[in-house]
Amino acid sequence: MKIYYDFHIHTALSPCGDESMTPNNIVNMALLNELDAIAITDHNTCENVKAVMKVAEDKDIIVIPGIEIETKEEIHVVGLFLDLESVYNIQTEIFKGLPNIKNKADIFGSQLILNENDDVVEELDKFLMTACALSLNKVIDIIHEYNGIAILAHIDRPSYSVISNLGMIPDDLNTSILEISRFSQLDKYIKLYTNYKIIQSSDAHELGYIGISHNFLEVDAKNIKSIFNALIN
Ligand SMILES: [Zn+2]
Ligand SMILES: [Zn+2]
Repeated sequence: MKIYYDFHIHTALSPCGDESMTPNNIVNMALLNELDAIAITDHNTCENVKAVMKVAEDKDIIVIPGIEIETKEEIHVVGLFLDLESVYNIQTEIFKGLPNIKNKADIFGSQLILNENDDVVEELDKFLMTACALSLNKVIDIIHEYNGIAILAHIDRPSYSVISNLGMIPDDLNTSILEISRFSQLDKYIKLYTNYKIIQSSDAHELGYIGISHNFLEVDAKNIKSIFNALIN
């Protein structure tokens, strides 16, 4: 069966995420765009995943717990997980090596932790848009340790991508899943990188971009495990 996906969505917790990116708005926009599965992937944190999952509980859409980690080399890696516990464990690992810089909301934007009613529960103090202490392959290894899927984010972008920062995709890379941004053509990249699984997500920081590429995966069943199998194989 086909499932339409968007595995890279930010909430109002990412400083660059629009304040309209609340749990209810995200789920409703994804449903409007007929998506079957989304992943919540804020910068170096997963604090809003739980609320989005709660909103989706009684709706026909899968919410995959995720995070977008910035490696030591300033490369963005999306981690997707089977459950909330795993993504919280990753967050703990990442937070250990994030510099203790306070967010300046007036400059970078606010970092809002929300509940399932879209109420602001807390403003996260620690600035999220920084590199953690772990290298690219170490980040990928830790994601795998928690049975997650590691995806190199927006490889076609001129910043924070493996190609922009290393000039190539390393031969010893511990994952074979690459994401291209919404601006590029999926067919072109599939032909270019035949040894990799190429996916395309929106990296939405605003509601209007959620599901904009309208891509699908062939899966055996509509659940996270089957989605992961389709990504690995
Ligand atoms: Zn990114
Ligand atoms: Zn992103």
